Amino acid sequence: MATGAASKRRLTILGSTGSIGRSTLDVVARLGGRDAFEMVALTGNGNVALLASQAVAFGAELAVTADETQYSELKQALAGTGIAVAAGRSGLVEAAERDAGWVMAAIVGNAGLAPTLAAAGRGADIALANKECLVSAGPLFVDAVRRGGGRLLPVDSEHNAIFQVLEGDQRHALERIILTASGGPFRTWPLAEMKGVTADTARAHPNWSMGLKISIDSASMFNKALEMIEARHLFSVAPEQIEVIVHPQSVVHSMVAYSDGSVLAQLGSPDMRTAIGYALTYPQRCSLPVERLDFTKLARLDFEAPDEARFPALRLARVAMQRGGVQGTVLNGAKEVALEAFIAGRIGFLDMAEITEAVMERLAAVPAASAMDDVFAADDEARRLAARLIG
Ligand code: NDP
Repeated sequence: MATGAASKRRLTILGSTGSIGRSTLDVVARLGGRDAFEMVALTGNGNVALLASQAVAFGAELAVTADETQYSELKQALAGTGIAVAAGRSGLVEAAERDAGWVMAAIVGNAGLAPTLAAAGRGADIALANKECLVSAGPLFVDAVRRGGGRLLPVDSEHNAIFQVLEGDQRHALERIILTASGGPFRTWPLAEMKGVTADTARAHPNWSMGLKISIDSASMFNKALEMIEARHLFSVAPEQIEVIVHPQSVVHSMVAYSDGSVLAQLGSPDMRTAIGYALTYPQRCSLPVERLDFTKLARLDFEAPDEARFPALRLARVAMQRGGVQGTVLNGAKEVALEAFIAGRIGFLDMAEITEAVMERLAAVPAASAMDDVFAADDEARRLAARLIG
């Protein structure tokens, strides 16, 4: 790790107050904190008190709340510290544009797209937790990273696992990418019982501790659906090369199958700090206090086929990939609106997939996006239609 001030790496964390953001700061602290890194910008939304304390603790140059109504509170909390303060969407982009060489993209949802694109465009290495960037803007986002010249370092545990075991010089021999899925809290529930679940039951993930929305997306397997589309763009594979397998213990984080019959897997405890640390110190491995796997205590590793009748989100991901166009954008936009409505108790758990599918059907013929404005227009239209269906 760097020691002299001149060699300190400059970091920005978009979404520092969230689950991934807090884990990232934990990793940063364990790898030397302010002695090893310069914190350029930290961003949050509603949790201004935490954002302010993080900014002070890590000596950030800039703190940004996405919520403009919280600007004065943040400004007041940081008065006299010398830390600059900004708010709103333009504030997020300002944070992303400051010259950090490594940017953690951990804002939840489509709100992360514009700032992450801004960081990619100026050539920063992007540690990507916000899968919505790839689901929604796929080829355009990958192209922006390529043109900017930075690296795209996947943080989602499955994609980070694949990134770790994908042999770059053996791409010709890659047969399948196998994404593992815990199956969530309703893995064994009958369809009839799934109808009545609430956001409180759905957020209780059996293995991972995560933000509210991704926890519910895991329960509906929309999270896996997004990950399938994410994998397609991240690793340039065809839809039929992406397989999902349910693995309730979440120990095998994902696998790559090659043409000689070999399958390479990455295993570990379910702790996002491993993936975050790998993205932060890549291509080196760092030292982290995550729980070690004890194979003598692992009673068993189970694998089962996913049930697409109870978890239609997986089928919708395949439909979106096969149709192409802006179907990934539409799936994500409609799903986000349906998810908000489910959290608010306005629709049922299974309605989320029904509404998303209905919106995808209506926008099935919209051609592929040739510019980001097309992505934003398709996202807006998908949200509008989903909101109308919800009523
Ligand atoms: P959280 O909900 O815990 O945190 C989200 C972050 O985004 C917070 O900093 C939050 O601010 C901020 N935020 C919320 N709304 C907005 C908005 N409109 N504009 C700008 N910022 C906003 O989410 P997670 O950390 O769980 O997830 C972040 C991303 O990482 C998601 O895309 C998720 O899919 C992905 N991911 C998460 C994993 C996990 O283990 N948690 C695993 C793999 C991927 P505040 O808290 O201040 O309101």
